[in-house]
Amino acid sequence: MLTKQKAYFKKVAKRRSYAPSKFLRDAYKHFNRLYFKGKLPQDLTIGWASDRTLGGDMGWAFGNNILINKRLTEWSLVALQTVLHEMCHISKPSDDGHGKQFTKELKRLIRAGAFDPLL
Ligand SMILES: [Zn+2]
Repeated sequence: MLTKQKAYFKKVAKRRSYAPSKFLRDAYKHFNRLYFKGKLPQDLTIGWASDRTLGGDMGWAFGNNILINKRLTEWSLVALQTVLHEMCHISKPSDDGHGKQFTKELKRLIRAGAFDPLL
């Protein structure tokens, strides 16, 4: 993620300009247990954010925060796929976004069948 984006995200997370969601939190907890051995942060902030905040992206992960585009509230399976995607960013933080480590982690989840019920 670009440095500028990171700074902006921090500001957004600080202002809490997102809507916390039990649906997303429960999914996160479930996926964390099932596919990450519960090793991802328990105190992570997760919620819906506006398309404007996300600049058109479906989701964002930074530090202990995951934001999902609120347009996806109508598309719960896509929202859950996005949560898994963002969890890979949390699991393998890196400045090169979708680099080697991220791709490896995402492929691990695909092989584990994480996306199967969401297709
Ligand atoms: Zn990504």
